[in-house]
Amino acid sequence: MSNSAKVLDRAERIADEVLFPAAETVDAGEMTLNNHLDLLAAEGFYGVAGPSEFSAMSAEDTATAARVMEIIASGCLTTGFVWAQHHSAVMAATHSQRPGITQEWLEPLCRGDRRAGLAIAATRPGPPAVRAEPVDGGWLLHGEAPWVTGWGLVDTLFAAARDDADTLVWSLLDARESDTLRVTPVDMVAVGASRTVQVTFTGHFLPEERVTGTVPHEVYLQRDPATLRFNGSLPLGVATRCARLIGPSPLDESIDRCRRALDEAGPQELPSARAAAAALALRSAGLLATTTGSAAVLRHRPTERLMREAMFLLVFGTRPAIRADLLDRLHA
Ligand SMILES: Cc1cc2nc3c(=O)[nH]c(=O)nc-3n(C[C@H](O)[C@H](O)[C@H](O)COP(=O)(O)OP(=O)(O)OC[C@H]3O[C@@H](n4cnc5c(N)ncnc54)[C@H](O)[C@@H]3O)c2cc1C
Repeated sequence: MSNSAKVLDRAERIADEVLFPAAETVDAGEMTLNNHLDLLAAEGFYGVAGPSEFSAMSAEDTATAARVMEIIASGCLTTGFVWAQHHSAVMAATHSQRPGITQEWLEPLCRGDRRAGLAIAATRPGPPAVRAEPVDGGWLLHGEAPWVTGWGLVDTLFAAARDDADTLVWSLLDARESDTLRVTPVDMVAVGASRTVQVTFTGHFLPEERVTGTVPHEVYLQRDPATLRFNGSLPLGVATRCARLIGPSPLDESIDRCRRALDEAGPQELPSARAAAAALALRSAGLLATTTGSAAVLRHRPTERLMREAMFLLVFGTRPAIRADLLDRLHA
């Protein structure tokens, strides 16, 4: 068995034997996610985006890493969603040119000894949601990150802020409330157990040694961040779970086609491939509801959960081009 096949096989077993049977309990907020996240860490899945020296589950290529995300999301989207936030920090620690970052952070992140959330509100176009003010020994952060998933389940926040020269300052912060870092929970109809919060920084000190790198905002916006592809695996996970519950049907072929389009997409095609995946998750949940019949409206069953999750994936992690393409598809 190749290493990729081993990684996918292990992910499938965890998704089917542990995550899916508990997904309704997690969704209802009746079970902490810690057991699921500890299992993913123990099995090496916190290092899927890192080098193989730190994780037996290190993916050899992007397609394998994306497939792992899809499989975990197909077991329990909430678990997959919290775990998905971690990988940007792993990639930053892998590629950082800053002294000490790789040495200090990469191994604990890959092993899941440290677990990261993500605050990228400052990357949005327009005025910076989070500003970085230079001071002796580092920066002061000011502003709001309106969506930060995994609060209380992570100890680290991979965060972006923008300075006066419109340069993004990326850092690894302690995910801990203080006088200068406050959180407000966000009440949601899907993935509610992901502990998503709004983070408010009021002159929060960022020591220079926690900075992983800087990049002009303009350059960042022109790049094709890996997260754009990976986020497409979340709707594919919802679609594959719906297809499994429906049984063999033409939906299986639609999912394979959609996954291939995402894997093969260059920067120009990616927004459309992402929109197609979001639309497919919604269509799959609709098919599952129709196949299920009236029982689809009963609470705490996979069908209604997957329908709510498909709605969330219409709006999560979008970009203007993805949204425009998705609107066209839904209007058609
Ligand atoms: C439940 C939930 C959990 C989330 N968890 C997190 C999290 O843990 N960490 C986190 O950082 N974000 C998180 N987000 C936010 C997410 O990353 C996107 O910013 C958000 O889904 C886009 O929302 P929006 O369409 O309302 O646009 P806004 O966020 O209001 O953005 C305005 C516009 O900017 C575009 N835009 C947003 N980001 C970028 C970008 N980076 N580059 C270019 N254009 C951009 C949007 O497409 C939109 O057109 C979460 C969102 C949801 C709904």
